[in-house]
Amino acid sequence: MSVKTFFGGIHPNYAKELTAASPIEVLSAPETVVVPMLQHIGAPAVPTVKKGDKVLAGQVIGEAPQPISAPVHAPISGTVVAVTDRPHINGRSVLSVIIENDGQNEWVELDTHPDPVQLDREVILSKIRAAGIVGMGGAGFPTAAKLTPPKDATIDYLILNGAECEPYLTADHRLMLEYAEDVILGAKLMAKVCGAKKIIIGIEDNKMDAVAELQKFSGAIEIALLDTKYPQGGEKQLIKAITGREVPSNGLPFQAGVVVQNVATAVAVAQAVRDGKPLVERIVTVTGPVINEPRNFLVPIGTPLQNIVEAAGGFTEEPGKVIVGGPMMGMAQVGLEAPIVKTSNGILALSKAESHEPNVMPCIKCARCVDVCPVYLLPLRLEAFGMNEMWDEAKAYGAMDCIECGCCTYICPSKRPLLQYIRVAKNQIVAASRKKSS
Ligand code: SF4
Ligand code: SF4
Repeated sequence: MSVKTFFGGIHPNYAKELTAASPIEVLSAPETVVVPMLQHIGAPAVPTVKKGDKVLAGQVIGEAPQPISAPVHAPISGTVVAVTDRPHINGRSVLSVIIENDGQNEWVELDTHPDPVQLDREVILSKIRAAGIVGMGGAGFPTAAKLTPPKDATIDYLILNGAECEPYLTADHRLMLEYAEDVILGAKLMAKVCGAKKIIIGIEDNKMDAVAELQKFSGAIEIALLDTKYPQGGEKQLIKAITGREVPSNGLPFQAGVVVQNVATAVAVAQAVRDGKPLVERIVTVTGPVINEPRNFLVPIGTPLQNIVEAAGGFTEEPGKVIVGGPMMGMAQVGLEAPIVKTSNGILALSKAESHEPNVMPCIKCARCVDVCPVYLLPLRLEAFGMNEMWDEAKAYGAMDCIECGCCTYICPSKRPLLQYIRVAKNQIVAASRKKSS
């Protein structure tokens, strides 16, 4: 099998050996869960319950107000003790439903289908939408919306993203090993919905055991072996590596005839359509040099980070930084109060030494940032535009195409905060275009 890849990228220390061999353990539900109404891209869900209500596991507690949104379900049975703003992993306060666990694990009645591939396309789609499934690789785009591109679009490929290129994380790796049959079923269901002619699963070549496991069930589905290189799992990088097609600047994958979905999303789809189960739990890697016992857990959504870190034996020393997600694109946390959401694939704790602020030096024009940029940008130029508030120039040089992978910042010998200034420029460009259209 030949190994495919994309232009640019980096080879950081992957450190996946900390948890790659740790089977998924089911973490019991905490005494209280905090379920945010915003766990996806789009409009927040609107609560359908109030303080004092009794809820069953799997019951809708927040409904989607528009197509680019997703409903939210109770992960446990119990009593709603508050509907209020609570800290979110995104650093803001978000309206959340707080449920006290009654310890009964009582579920709503689930609508099961033993042979779900035989169901009509519309039925499968409505079940995916009703189950509140969103992209579980980190982006959180509502899956039902992503599977229904404009009517005139022809979808040639459904690509399942099993790259898991972020260092430290192994949640998708373990999922492919332990839920291989569901990955394949979810892929078939999603291909039926979006009309894809071919399904391809992309996996980095550091997960050959997962390739072997999937091959037991894959049949006509192709498995593409990818070079182990960050950001191999970036949507546009994956499409380019596997199909050779380019998504247009500022465009979306359907414009290249492709829909991309994460392997964890495929499992959620299989469980929703076959078992009637909404998205109320996910696999989370708890890892890093200062985690006592790094491992993988299946966690009820809404479980506070604190409970999950404690289940992994806590910290060996006070961490310098705790990140939800991987070290390259994850979100740094100010505390451990926020809960796990549908998109949270890991909790990473770094030591103080690994988290220190670098000493920033002047640019030496070495062009290493240019060499690694997977979207062919000039990060040193974009940084200068961002620093000097030259938003029009930043836009003209393609700032909006930056996928925020952080490769440029990682490789820079002068430790310049390139991505930080590119993000500032992007935010200003978006704000200016909103102002113009209002
Ligand atoms: S400019 Fe953006 S896309 Fe290019 S390497 Fe830097 S963060 Fe990645
Ligand atoms: S990698 Fe750093 S030092 Fe080299 S050109 Fe880019 S910004 Fe300048």
